[in-house]
Amino acid sequence: MDTIKKNWYSESCELWPGSTFSFEVKEVLHDERSLYQHIQVFDTISLGKVLVLDGIIQCTEKDEFSYQEMISFLPLCCHPNPEKVLIVGGGDGGVARDVAKHPQVKEIVQVEIDAMVIEVSKKYLKFMSVGFDNKKMTLHVGDGFEFMKNHSHEFDVIITDSSDPVGPAVNLFQENYFSLMKSALKPNGIVCSQAGTYWDSMELVKNTLKICKNQFPVAAYATTSVPTYPCGQIGFVIGSLDGNANLLNPVREFSLEQLKNMDLKYYNSDVHKASFSLPSFVRYEIEP
Ligand code: SAM
Repeated sequence: MDTIKKNWYSESCELWPGSTFSFEVKEVLHDERSLYQHIQVFDTISLGKVLVLDGIIQCTEKDEFSYQEMISFLPLCCHPNPEKVLIVGGGDGGVARDVAKHPQVKEIVQVEIDAMVIEVSKKYLKFMSVGFDNKKMTLHVGDGFEFMKNHSHEFDVIITDSSDPVGPAVNLFQENYFSLMKSALKPNGIVCSQAGTYWDSMELVKNTLKICKNQFPVAAYATTSVPTYPCGQIGFVIGSLDGNANLLNPVREFSLEQLKNMDLKYYNSDVHKASFSLPSFVRYEIEP
């Protein structure tokens, strides 16, 4: 099922069968298959511009900031000096845009597998792809898994802004990827990876957190709300090589005025702390 009525687009994916999210389309701006995936960009009635990969919404202009700010600032604010940051995936540029806002970040390296996602985002999704224009940024086109094999003890923070675990992203949810990330980190480094929603993908949440805990002495799952993602909720696993790290308490706190000056609309220290508080049915599943 692609549409439920004229001009309406419905997301459809094997990861969450039986229900769908739909939006009304003003204009199809782009519709093309790359080597890796089907890339679509829509202008919509209520969500602004929307990027869809292989039938799954990646970001909408209306609510992308919640995801991008949280996947960036949760790990950055848990690290005492996050100078060099690696982003894997993130071809829309939104995470790069927000990582660059952190005053301690000096260098951003990004590896995205699909050059066409970058090109299309630069053309239609400027509000996010502005991240690629930053002087701190070095962008590589390639597979994040392969890239990781050739880097050791180099990064303070590694953020994996991957699509869901279908197609080229499958490897980024596996234990050997977390092991490679561990080797690519400097001492006391931190990783943060997209880890799915607990409403529809509890096994994914559990497995990704388990893998992260196997590889890192300190690990936790944090949640955020993104209305246009399945079930309106998505989470991240965060792992630290520092065995004394307390991920729930940011080591760097910003005042509301500082956050406003950085144009951060979702993240703040209270949201940081609260994002690790999980409902009971999730805790029954993920706590030993
Ligand atoms: N915020 C989004 C979400 O969770 O729905 C993710 C957005 S970002 C567009 C995801 C990117 O990961 C895509 O551009 C995709 O091409 C990239 N990607 C998937 N697998 C990859 C891999 N193995 N190496 C590098 N990038 C990868």
